[in-house]
Amino acid sequence: EERARLAGGTGPGRTSDGHAVDLMLNIGSAADLAGVDLTDVAGVGLFRTEFLFLDRHDAPDLEEQVDAYAEAFRLFERGTIVVRTLDAGADKPLPFLGLREEPNPALGVRGLRVAREQPEILDTQLEAIALAALETAADVWVMAPMVSTQPEAADFAARVRDHGLPTAGVMIEVPAAALRAGRFLDTVDFLSIGTNDLSQYTLAADRQSGGLADLLDPWQPALLELIGVCAAAGKTAGKSVGICGEAAADPFLAPVLAGLGITKLSMSPRGLPAVRASLAGHTLAECERLAALALDAGDAAEARAAVLAETNG
Ligand code: PEP
Ligand code: MG
Repeated sequence: EERARLAGGTGPGRTSDGHAVDLMLNIGSAADLAGVDLTDVAGVGLFRTEFLFLDRHDAPDLEEQVDAYAEAFRLFERGTIVVRTLDAGADKPLPFLGLREEPNPALGVRGLRVAREQPEILDTQLEAIALAALETAADVWVMAPMVSTQPEAADFAARVRDHGLPTAGVMIEVPAAALRAGRFLDTVDFLSIGTNDLSQYTLAADRQSGGLADLLDPWQPALLELIGVCAAAGKTAGKSVGICGEAAADPFLAPVLAGLGITKLSMSPRGLPAVRASLAGHTLAECERLAALALDAGDAAEARAAVLAETNG
């Protein structure tokens, strides 16, 4: 049993005293699920759709999109699949969109903002997701990337529901959105925190600049504090708040995130066993204590050191 625990064990994600933390997968296409053991996986927490749009001169048409989404949905008809609408721009340039050059693309027209100028791309994509959802038994949730304000979130949710898709959410990638998570939850069904971008925008450190890794580190207490704000808002609203950035795959950070109140962690398949094992090694009260230690630290290195000292001792 000890060996199974160290290897990642089995069973759904939970603390040693049985508090559930859903473990989910990040994928970019159906191919990413090939050969992956889906036992005890609660679903797909982030289906990135950029893959379908890469290296092309025009957008994939409705039929091509329906086929690609249905292929992924069919592989996971048990559990939830969270589809993210196109996240173009900045670190994910997509030439066919013809976005104009900007001095600061990460602060420019990217993610949901593209729909301000080209709403038909989002509409076609939502239509394709809706048609694919009808073809399969998967529980399909839809979310938008790079949302900054509550009306943006509300407008997006309305469009999703107009297409007959019942569950609409947004990613929390911008500090302004994290701070207003409670209000966002007045009109959306769930939130998913993209810690890669949320750390970039919170610490003002370009995620593509290798030299600023210490600032981009998801252990930064400021980032953890914003995650805590979102989790608390989710608890008050009785709605799901998960994490789908790289931070979710750090086994030492997972108990901290659970302690902050996060109830869904979505990651690439290889990260999952260690995260499962780590959660199973702590009670929820211990997770909450580790979260308090991390929040008390001065920076990411101090937060990690404080939590590791406690975990090993
Ligand atoms: C994130 O920003 O954390 C995220 C999950 O999205 P991406 O890495 O695709 O920007
Ligand atoms: Mg992102």
